[in-house]
Amino acid sequence: MPIARILFTMPLPEPFDYTVPEGMDLVPGAYVAAPVGPYDRLGMVVDVLPDQPGSNRKLKAVTSVYDVPPMSAPMREFLNWTTRYTVSHPGTILSMALRARDALLPSPVELRYRLAGPPEGRITEARARVLEQAAVLGPVSASELAAAAGSSSSVVKGLVAMGALEEIEEATDPPFPPPDPDRPGAVLTPEQASAAEELREGLLKGGYAAYLLDGVTGSGKTEVYFEAIADVLRADPEAQILVLLPEIALTQAILARFEARFGAAPAPWHSGLNPKERRRTMREVLHGRARIVIGARSALFLPFRKLKLIIVDEEHDGSYKQEDGVTYHARDLAVMRAKLEDGAVILASATPALETVVNAEAGRYIRLRLAARPGTARLPEIELIDLKRAPPEKGKWLSPRLALALGETLAAGEQSLLFLNRRGYAPLVICKACGEKLKSPGTESWLTEHRYSGRLVCHLTGYSIAKPAVCPHCGAADSLMGVGPGVERIAEEVRTLLPNARIEIFSSDTAQSGEATRGLIERMAASEIDVMIGTQIVAKGHNFPNLTLVGVVDADSGLKGGDLRAGERTYQLLSQVAGRAGRAERPGKAYVQTYTPDNPAMQALAANDRDGYLSIEREVRNELGLPPFGRLAALILSAPSADLVDRAALELSAQAPNSEGIELYGPAPAPITVLRGRHRRRFLVKSLRTVDLSAYMAAWTARYKLPAQVRLSVDIDPYSFL
Ligand code: ADP
Repeated sequence: MPIARILFTMPLPEPFDYTVPEGMDLVPGAYVAAPVGPYDRLGMVVDVLPDQPGSNRKLKAVTSVYDVPPMSAPMREFLNWTTRYTVSHPGTILSMALRARDALLPSPVELRYRLAGPPEGRITEARARVLEQAAVLGPVSASELAAAAGSSSSVVKGLVAMGALEEIEEATDPPFPPPDPDRPGAVLTPEQASAAEELREGLLKGGYAAYLLDGVTGSGKTEVYFEAIADVLRADPEAQILVLLPEIALTQAILARFEARFGAAPAPWHSGLNPKERRRTMREVLHGRARIVIGARSALFLPFRKLKLIIVDEEHDGSYKQEDGVTYHARDLAVMRAKLEDGAVILASATPALETVVNAEAGRYIRLRLAARPGTARLPEIELIDLKRAPPEKGKWLSPRLALALGETLAAGEQSLLFLNRRGYAPLVICKACGEKLKSPGTESWLTEHRYSGRLVCHLTGYSIAKPAVCPHCGAADSLMGVGPGVERIAEEVRTLLPNARIEIFSSDTAQSGEATRGLIERMAASEIDVMIGTQIVAKGHNFPNLTLVGVVDADSGLKGGDLRAGERTYQLLSQVAGRAGRAERPGKAYVQTYTPDNPAMQALAANDRDGYLSIEREVRNELGLPPFGRLAALILSAPSADLVDRAALELSAQAPNSEGIELYGPAPAPITVLRGRHRRRFLVKSLRTVDLSAYMAAWTARYKLPAQVRLSVDIDPYSFL
């Protein structure tokens, strides 16, 4: 009997062998169930080997095979590559591709009811109401129909018996309506049209290609990639397209744009889906029927049959980096996936990452530029406010110039946006009596005061308590004081300044659901809000036509800490925020409050000189051998006690292989030294670009047997240094 090597969706380092029962046709990529211990588990065939006569290995047999298309060869290669790159177990990566297992089964069916023939028998008032609703609603479930008619399911069943209604079976998870590429899109400006044309030529040629769609905020990057999507849909009736977006809160507006352009909404994939929605999307992707998928970074692991185009919108966005569990950067993986699929990838941004720009300049990506906003919309003028020279009044956070501009904007009937990347009222709570700073238990992190909810919250772990009446340290009453500003405190200041303004806060606290987010965005777009105060959630992609003033409350906050990308990220974030102003006919203005107006990121912002800034960044990183000119990997050890983790760190350090082109730093206490009761130590490994750093990390960690209770995680190309 032939032997199948099966990889299970479990954190195992290798596949297991099984015999293939007579009559079962297995190919690599097939999804199967096979016994592991007492249970059948989901797995995928990685290889089928011919019969090995004479072998006396006792193997169990594969139980069953799922009746779905096998995983494609490029997708399997992608999973292998990701396994190696992220230094993970292959089974762990496979389970990322099979998040909704019931997608492997056919859609369940439901009974639905619709009008049939003329009723045989007396039509009571309740029956008449049901028939009336059945005519309006079309096929629906008995309970929906009964509810709409204000009667009971038994009336519905009665009408079936009378021949007036009929029962039909319909799939619970229907296919997504197909997109129509031939509906008219926007009439492109000459600049947009030439970018779309260059893309079209490349896409129709086929094969792997990577593009950087580099266009200022609001220049129509979305319109241009819509054309690319239409081209791919038209050229190949089986081609599938994946659009990655950084913030799922935004998808609502973009979904409507997709629907307007293609006549059908794309298949969604993100953490907000319920299990039924997930299995529907995954099933349709797996069978190759979902043509356009729009999703968060994890959508990159969906088992597409024929993925021909990937779009990474706002490619510079930090949320593409997955920080928990298997750490990966979705942009980098998207490029690799496109390469393996022999397809195209488009990275779109107004502020592309240095990595991406360097790739474009080296000719690895084809660069398409959009330098202008369409129509009369102009980029906002950005002015720095030096807080040392023009400080706010004591106890306030807005400088006189910004406060004045807020008043003028309100008087002109226009909208303002204040940006501060701190949720809550105050980022630190201190006891006036004893000086204690309140911390999260078992974690080195301050608690943030939230006044609206009356709670103190740890933004790192989610821990929260009602604000205590007395200091938990010294017992003094009424002694706890919030220090520093959060968005709630800025809202309070604006309320005093402009008592008649309609003010709202936009942060993950006020926009917890898709509905709340949509509501806020719609009220802002409809000019029902005068001043919006928001965290980084406001920086992304929104179009508010009447928004003309943007104020950045604390431009320096992102520059603190030892993050190698701090300057770059600050530039990106602030220029995206400023880019919200002046999107329609009215010109926009942005004020940026800073204590470091001479910082190159601030200077470049004011001069709208992105490329100048990037060239400074590039020089510094090149000099220091930092990404993208060298490679980095982080390794974090954690344990319940400092002793244990220190011992493990020393032992691990002694095991580090000597290797050319590798520099090892650490172990050092991580900036977040204690997290959820675990003590943390960090290593940072720097290598030349030419070194396979993943292989080095794999070899190093394989040498060391972790003591009980010690955990180790590897982060290749880290973005967070906490
Ligand atoms: P970006 O993705 O570069 O931020 P968008 O594609 O969202 O830009 O475009 C910004 C706004 O301008 C959107 O409201 C869009 O509908 C509009 N727009 C862009 N290009 C055109 C065009 N050629 N004709 C009409 N409206 C356009």
